[in-house]
Amino acid sequence: MSRVRPFPDAQNTVLMIRYAGNALNDFSELDARAKRTLFHRLVRLHRSGVQHNDLEPRNVVIAAKSSASSASGPVIIDFDRAELDHDCPGPSCEELLQVAKDLGLDIGVEMERQVQEEGKTSVYGVVVAFVSAVVFALFRLPHRPHND
Ligand SMILES: [Zn+2]
Repeated sequence: MSRVRPFPDAQNTVLMIRYAGNALNDFSELDARAKRTLFHRLVRLHRSGVQHNDLEPRNVVIAAKSSASSASGPVIIDFDRAELDHDCPGPSCEELLQVAKDLGLDIGVEMERQVQEEGKTSVYGVVVAFVSAVVFALFRLPHRPHND
């Protein structure tokens, strides 16, 4: 299966912004930490409404260590087939399930880990929500009986 398009019929223009690194041949080239990093980056993409639709080892590059300004570890490339209106159902998402399987990860464990990591940065939001709920509950208490 070739995806090379002859120039006369080309519909798309590709702008290569920079060299990102060497593409993988197989997900087994990643160690356990890099696999989790890759999966969590994919989850964040999904949560922002992007489904890649072609997440194969050839579309993952390992960022060169010398490029200090870029993200380190596995970087997802080639969004040729991506959909931008993805409403991710989370742990039941087909792409997440497939990639977790390909990486040998437990999707439930990884989704929980992601929630915990994001929770550390939004403790304030949780506190505000909790206080709001308590205040709401207090004002919803039944009125004391009147002394007629
Ligand atoms: Zn999804």
